[in-house]
Amino acid sequence: MYYGEYGGQFIPETLFPVLQELDRAFEKARRNRDFVKRWRYYLGVYAGRPTPLFFAKNSSQKLGIKLYLKREDLLHTGAHKINNTIGQCLLAKEVLKKTRIIAETGAGQHGVATATACALLNLKCTIYMGRKDVERQKINVLKMKLLGADVVPVSSGTETLKDAINSALRDWITNPTSTHYVIGSVVGPYPFPKIVSFFQSIIGVEAKQQILKLEGRLPDFVVACVGGGSNAIGIFSAFLKEKKVKLIGVEAGGNGKLHSASLTKGSLGVFHGMKTYLIQDEDGQVLPPHSIAPGLDYPAVGPEHAYLKDSGRAEYYSVQDEDALEGFEFLSRFEGIIPALEPAHAMAWIIKNSKELKGKIVILNLSGRGDKDMEIYSNRKADHQA
Ligand SMILES: *Cc1c(COP(=O)(O)O)cnc(C)c1O
Repeated sequence: MYYGEYGGQFIPETLFPVLQELDRAFEKARRNRDFVKRWRYYLGVYAGRPTPLFFAKNSSQKLGIKLYLKREDLLHTGAHKINNTIGQCLLAKEVLKKTRIIAETGAGQHGVATATACALLNLKCTIYMGRKDVERQKINVLKMKLLGADVVPVSSGTETLKDAINSALRDWITNPTSTHYVIGSVVGPYPFPKIVSFFQSIIGVEAKQQILKLEGRLPDFVVACVGGGSNAIGIFSAFLKEKKVKLIGVEAGGNGKLHSASLTKGSLGVFHGMKTYLIQDEDGQVLPPHSIAPGLDYPAVGPEHAYLKDSGRAEYYSVQDEDALEGFEFLSRFEGIIPALEPAHAMAWIIKNSKELKGKIVILNLSGRGDKDMEIYSNRKADHQA
């Protein structure tokens, strides 16, 4: 249940049996060929796997490295989140025999990916979202409703993600028999970090096969952005035992003052049912996260990352908004790929460290596409011109 000293189950007692049932069902399902086949079927013909590993020739020449992009941005709904939501919804429906799905979402990306999987699999879907986020993310709210989900605005506390999390947990306590709570990253009480890691590990499995085929050897570096940490764990997992492959996680340094860098700038605490690093004040109040990338606005981080940091197996850095924009413009201009602002952080780290990476094979996990971020980019540009 723990990754080193991190993780665990810090939840109301009534949920213990529900998590135990979930763990049993998941362990059964991951060993069940039919289940895995069905999940892989949907990932293939519905979501668009396997995603290519693209040799970014122009960037490579500019930076003096060999840069490969794992193209999760090409997936249906535009990011890696669909790998997990299809997996968990299938688990809920076919193994746990549940009829209703709940989830919480901040920026709305996980809400859309969950509503999509529910539409595909004929499941009832309720998404909790802070009232302020509902106002800020009108398009994603509209998408969720169009996909058939009920979107419930949460008006308690700060009216943002952490309050939506509390509402989702309360709902689950009230409806444990009919309902499964789809958590969107490698976070939350055990066994969620393990389950989400499994469903995202497909990224690393593919990337490893692809790089071996293309280069005949393992990469020197694997770089990914870290919000809750699911795309990073997904690609890291295949390389954890390959000690020569350096694993780099990049957090959102925000504007320097406000940030979402729980590993590099946070402290130990309990949040979302787990013990991990989070951003909090001296009284242990969770601070509102900030990043130019909506998907990195999570105040904590998955327990496995905290463990990988302690053990030294992975290294974590933070990159600020301005630099992330540089990564965003770089991939757009030189590769014709507009990346999501989240992996643009990881790209920025590569640009910044290109001298040290000289001649190395580097895989960047391009977790999502940037269409969703054009308004943020446009506002930034306007600010700079004003
Ligand atoms: C949600 C999201 C992230 C952050 O989530 P992780 O669990 O850290 O992967 C990163 N990139 C994109 C494109 C996202 O939508």
